[in-house]
Amino acid sequence: MLRLPINRFVSWLLLAVFIVGGSLTAAPMWGQSVMPENVALVTAPLIGLLIAAPTFAALCTLVRCRKCHYRLFWHAVAKRNHRDGIGWFLTASQCPQCGQTG
Ligand SMILES: [Zn+2]
Repeated sequence: MLRLPINRFVSWLLLAVFIVGGSLTAAPMWGQSVMPENVALVTAPLIGLLIAAPTFAALCTLVRCRKCHYRLFWHAVAKRNHRDGIGWFLTASQCPQCGQTG
């Protein structure tokens, strides 16, 4: 996983934080049994959004090809179809722009 020519540590860190934020954003769907209802419906999604939105922006702007600085995460979410974009990001080994390998 993550064999693209990028800074893997930063990418994994951002992805992990993004997943946490994303899960909190979805708290109305799963959180009502583990936290108070008003927290699950209002507070948790708000905090989740505050975490996920900047992390997503950071992923899009910071995760770049080492060689040509092509925005690889942005490519995954914007240029590819939504279903396979993240899968492509995790498994691809070559920059689609310049062909650099990880
Ligand atoms: Zn490149």
